[in-house]
Amino acid sequence: MTELDHTTRFLFADCAVRGELTQLDRSVSEVLSKHHYPSAIQPLLGQFMAAAAMLSDTLKFDGTLSLQVRGSGQVRTLMAECRDNRALRALAQYNDDFDDRGPILGEGQMAITIEPKQGQRYQGVVAINDTDLSLAQVLEDYFQQSEQIRTRIWLFADQHKAAGLMLQAMPQSASEGDLDIPDDDENWSRLMLLASTLKPEEVFGLDAQTVLHRLFHEEQVRLYPPRPLEFECTCSAGRSGNAIVTLGATEALALVEELGHIDIDCQFCHERYVFKADDVRQLFSASADDTLN
Ligand SMILES: [Zn+2]
Repeated sequence: MTELDHTTRFLFADCAVRGELTQLDRSVSEVLSKHHYPSAIQPLLGQFMAAAAMLSDTLKFDGTLSLQVRGSGQVRTLMAECRDNRALRALAQYNDDFDDRGPILGEGQMAITIEPKQGQRYQGVVAINDTDLSLAQVLEDYFQQSEQIRTRIWLFADQHKAAGLMLQAMPQSASEGDLDIPDDDENWSRLMLLASTLKPEEVFGLDAQTVLHRLFHEEQVRLYPPRPLEFECTCSAGRSGNAIVTLGATEALALVEELGHIDIDCQFCHERYVFKADDVRQLFSASADDTLN
């Protein structure tokens, strides 16, 4: 299997159905190596990453897509983010006394947020009231209810890897030149049946072309070149400094006086940014200069 993490877009030439296959390896390992997550959370994080990568590639836009769940269970927040279709990061915040016998996510809601570089931010929210959350099911419902697009999603994850397969009926307007293709239930059912035979060992161990050939070798499948993805965090000393500036000078200086320094820990990559008293004073003199300019 190729080392690279990637999404692969494909199209069934003779039915109005498109697909997306995401295979993640190194990015998942990197996220999981940054923090000692309870083992019950690890596959969930992988699934969220695979889903964010897949949706980001499907929705074709320039910007950031994030999936975030807030629940009443052992995990308070779980989120994955895919930026510009290629940079992935994810985090989970959970109870200190994490107990995997309790509901992991519990009741709550999932938000799908799309922040294009240009244009309006979009957010779709789906309620989750099932203690046995299947992320794939939640996303399918989202597409069905909010977008009226018939969609099936399969997600796979273990302690090291994650993968996702998605099939989606194309809106009639999207199948340019093929407007006479009917919304074909028979085609859809056949493709669903074939796709549902995908096994974790195949999607984790074989390259995209082989996986798709095994599933759909009797179909006319048009494959697009795989698009690489990697773990990347957007945190920086500058952004952490801005967070301190938003506290206001009085509070920030009181804090640094009391503690000797202010630490900002990135929740995604666990990089630690330390600001001493001089650094904090500098932040405020710099931001005062900004205001004057
Ligand atoms: Zn970071």
